[in-house]
Amino acid sequence: MSEERKAQLAQAVQRVEARVQAACDAAGRAREEVRLLAVTKTFPAGDAALLTDLGLTDLAENRDQEASVKVAEVARFRPDATVRWHMVGRLQRNKARSVVRWADEVQSVDSIRLAGALDKAVLAEGRPVLDVLVQASIDGDPARGGCPLPELEELAAYIARAGGLRLRGVMAVAPLGGDPDRAFARLAEAAERLRKDHPGATEVSAGMSSDLEQAIGHGSTCVRVGTALLGGRGLASLESGSPGSA
Ligand SMILES: *Cc1c(COP(=O)(O)O)cnc(C)c1O
Repeated sequence: MSEERKAQLAQAVQRVEARVQAACDAAGRAREEVRLLAVTKTFPAGDAALLTDLGLTDLAENRDQEASVKVAEVARFRPDATVRWHMVGRLQRNKARSVVRWADEVQSVDSIRLAGALDKAVLAEGRPVLDVLVQASIDGDPARGGCPLPELEELAAYIARAGGLRLRGVMAVAPLGGDPDRAFARLAEAAERLRKDHPGATEVSAGMSSDLEQAIGHGSTCVRVGTALLGGRGLASLESGSPGSA
């Protein structure tokens, strides 16, 4: 693995760290309240391994097929690293069984049907309980994925009853072209409502490369950063239907 790439990633991590720290300072929050999740989709396992060397051990993917291969490769490259893998992309029910083999947390649970499939898959695989976030649709645009806000409570209640799942909080992607501040404020309200019935649902996953400052200002506990750490993804990310800048 090239020293040049390592130096490049080290610089990017430093820049993103500085942004997260500055946003925490501006919001009067402690840096430890915000996890930095590196979104490694479309980048090779070697990059993910280098990120773990740089201290980033929360990694995220958005497609099961790509992730299941990469997770195994990273484990081979860095057998001693303790990586926590997050699924953040849209997920079909027929992939549930595969996803629970590699993911420690699924942030993109947006329907009762999907939650049910994941619950069954956890039991079938005999793995530990799966941490999940409910993905909220802030603008109601179904193309972006996410559960409509009025249905969020019912979805959360279903997950809370499922033996194989543990409800950890909420996730959202800010609407394309919309005002991220407004979106994150709405998400924060939804998260607060949810915590009344589910005090353990403390995570708010919000903010990406372009809007992490606003998200942290509105209480995000987890920013999901791809481009600002690893560089542009080109057309591949558009073909896979992922949100975020290309
Ligand atoms: C790709 C992706 C990100 C990261 O987006 P960047 O703009 O590259 O930082 C965050 N969240 C989700 C759900 C993604 O698919």
